[in-house]
Amino acid sequence: MFGMVLHKTGTPLVFEELPDPVPGPGEIRVRVEACGVCRTDLHVVDGELPDPKLPIIPGHEIVGRIDALGPGVGDLKAGERVGIPWLGWTCGVCPYCVSHRENLCDRPVFTGYTRNGGFATHAIADARYAFPLSQEGSAAALAPLLCAGLIGWRSLNFAANAKTLGLYGFGAAAHIIAQVAREQGRQIYAFTRPGDKAAQAFALRLGAAWAGGSNEKTPEPLDAAIIYAPAGELVPAALAAVRKGGTVVCAGIHMSDIPSFPYRLLWQERQIVSVANLTRQDGIDFLAFAAGTKIETQIKTYPLDQANIALADLRAGRFEGAAVLLPPS
Ligand SMILES: [Zn+2]
Ligand SMILES: [Zn+2]
Repeated sequence: MFGMVLHKTGTPLVFEELPDPVPGPGEIRVRVEACGVCRTDLHVVDGELPDPKLPIIPGHEIVGRIDALGPGVGDLKAGERVGIPWLGWTCGVCPYCVSHRENLCDRPVFTGYTRNGGFATHAIADARYAFPLSQEGSAAALAPLLCAGLIGWRSLNFAANAKTLGLYGFGAAAHIIAQVAREQGRQIYAFTRPGDKAAQAFALRLGAAWAGGSNEKTPEPLDAAIIYAPAGELVPAALAAVRKGGTVVCAGIHMSDIPSFPYRLLWQERQIVSVANLTRQDGIDFLAFAAGTKIETQIKTYPLDQANIALADLRAGRFEGAAVLLPPS
């Protein structure tokens, strides 16, 4: 197999030939059809997340076909298309796992962070954490659903029944969740970097009721806001934009420090909450919703060995929607 390997954080990935991995008990091996590039991959590569298992192959938005089964895999078959997400394994016995909060497991394994991911031609996964996917359609278009869509879905659930919803950072997650939220009858207010007219036009094309810079005021206060951009200064900005009793959801795994702000921004039962990882139930619920709805992902594809360019383009905001890596077929 071939993979893009991170040996040391802060250095580029290296394209390498590696021994074909052999699936262990309960594991599957997939031939990767496509793997999305998530901002979390950027945080891993840049060394912004603690203790990655190095060397590591990043990538946790994997769409692939099963090409080998380890002993004891019952429900999945060779040739079947599956999605492999960020949540790679949980312990099943910690207080979080036994209370339907496996996303907060004390001993989790994460794809592309503490076990090898999908920036490769092949990947191994625990079969219980892989999601069966539609057998048809473009793998590249499906890939961003596996994290941008899934974590976006979880963050949207924290916005509860908000009718007017702000989305800060109109990238991979927001462009999917805007479509989901509209389908649910919500109104979307899209915030981009000040002056990013292209991203604002993109949001309006996807049905946002309003789009503007994160420093701009919406015509009416919001019921809730979700922050996808890793910029701590958006927290007080979002608090100022939500009405009494409103919620600000921080959906990223990493954010720059939040500047201090006056208590009156939080007063009147406004809430700030973060969203961490996903549960398998989130995946099942979201993929079922997505299968019944027309969600169109906007993607920019790169050959696998161009992963460093895809990461650099993501860092610089050089494309709309999501980047997806395609291994050689
Ligand atoms: Zn656990
Ligand atoms: Zn992700």
